[in-house]
Amino acid sequence: MKVNIVGSGIGGSGIGALLANVGFDVELFEKNSLPGGRFCTYEREGFHIDVGCHIIANCENGTCGEILNQIGMPIQWTYVRNPRPVFHFMGKFINFPKDIPKLNLPNKDVSGLLKMLATINQLKESEIEKYDDMDVRSFISEYTTDPRVRSLFGFIIGLYFVAPDFQTSVGEWIYCQKEIQRFKSSGLPIGGTISIPKTYCKCIEKNGGKIHLNTPVKKIVVEDNKATGIELHDGTFIPSDIVISNAGIKATVNQLVGRKYFPSDYVKLVDSYQYSLATIMVKVALKRKITNEKFIMYVASENLEEFADIMYKKEIPEKHVMVMIPIISNLDPTAAPEGKQLLIAGAGAPANPEQGNCNYKKWEEAILNSLRDIFPDIDDAILWIDTTTPMDIKKFAGEEGVVIGISQIVGQVGKNRPKQELPIENLYCCCADTGSRHIGGELAAESALRLFSKLKNKTIGS
Ligand SMILES: Cc1cc2nc3c(=O)[nH]c(=O)nc-3n(C[C@H](O)[C@H](O)[C@H](O)COP(=O)(O)OP(=O)(O)OC[C@H]3O[C@@H](n4cnc5c(N)ncnc54)[C@H](O)[C@@H]3O)c2cc1C
Repeated sequence: MKVNIVGSGIGGSGIGALLANVGFDVELFEKNSLPGGRFCTYEREGFHIDVGCHIIANCENGTCGEILNQIGMPIQWTYVRNPRPVFHFMGKFINFPKDIPKLNLPNKDVSGLLKMLATINQLKESEIEKYDDMDVRSFISEYTTDPRVRSLFGFIIGLYFVAPDFQTSVGEWIYCQKEIQRFKSSGLPIGGTISIPKTYCKCIEKNGGKIHLNTPVKKIVVEDNKATGIELHDGTFIPSDIVISNAGIKATVNQLVGRKYFPSDYVKLVDSYQYSLATIMVKVALKRKITNEKFIMYVASENLEEFADIMYKKEIPEKHVMVMIPIISNLDPTAAPEGKQLLIAGAGAPANPEQGNCNYKKWEEAILNSLRDIFPDIDDAILWIDTTTPMDIKKFAGEEGVVIGISQIVGQVGKNRPKQELPIENLYCCCADTGSRHIGGELAAESALRLFSKLKNKTIGS
């Protein structure tokens, strides 16, 4: 059975590998010169730099790893352990939850917080769904209203889902939190995030499939409400029995197929989906090692609401108040030349002028000021800086330059998540938008695993 796939992100290359591995004839088309979409890695002066991603939630135990297991092509991972992630909270290093006493919280908030953590731990998987329609902030306020606790959890929610705590679904958070606690295997693949999609693409080729880089697809061809193949920009038509789009649900409906091919209710539903937020990634190449930490979570405000106000009032703060800082070369020594260090400082920034001030040079400076708070002498050690803005991500992977895709907020998770099956025969969407209950790349890989279970026994006409 012939399958055409549009896009080589985790969802596209992942489903391609799974299908090629059981005998499907797979042909994949990617507009960029490198595979992987938002999981791509590029090289500059001996440094290996991930386009976007900084940490994978569960490595070999997660859904990206499960695809590698199923195709029998394991890769090497490195973990955020020894030392584990640490908060730099209001000027102090804090291990969470061990250092809760350092926050000097009132007794009622400490007991509330411990009660909340116990509730999450005791919850069975079958009970999680009932929390899908509740937002994280309302859930936490049932246990504590201390703004410091809210800032710490707000940071974690931002890190996982790149969405505000007052919108993110508790069901989605609890599921992911429990999985991370169970496996304790957050980290990165050796060689950068690209190692994962590259291995999936290798599996496609090993099984006789084809990968076309630098090949944008112009449209998905539909006849009599059936997808019959794809058309390239030079007019070439490539027929297939199944078409799978990894380009995101909105781009698939609006650009690749065309709105007129769908029922109006469906188009309205697709229009209503909200994206996650965007980030700016300041990639700092250093002449020498300045830290032994592997992952620092910088929080410089007790008041998230105030910060959101600043962002949306179009002012850029002098220092960014929430920055995640993976020290990539302490995780994977192959990411930087011998004796040098690579760190990435990623933080929220508007995706477009409607969301806030898009002077990304100023956002970069705000993030550098936050780094100076942690490492006062960092400027002496900087070799160069490469900054990836939401505009760069938009050009590279689409979806308005956001981090995740369709956001995991109340009303867009569980039974309300966009479906993989489109209302056109033989057409599917496989990407983070159609994934469920996971984080970033693992969300897209979950979509690939679930779509594979539906398609693996499909034969022509069935
Ligand atoms: C800055 C940033 C930081 C992130 N950090 C993390 C993190 O730490 N951990 C984590 O797990 N996740 C992280 N993510 C999220 C994660 O990268 C994404 O959720 C996930 O990779 C999306 O995968 P996808 O399968 O939806 O495809 P995408 O990565 O969106 O790829 C889609 C692919 O389709 C291609 N395409 C689109 N249209 C066409 C066309 N017409 N023809 C041919 N090709 C086309 C694109 O070029 C692209 O390669 C981050 C993302 C960003 C942007």
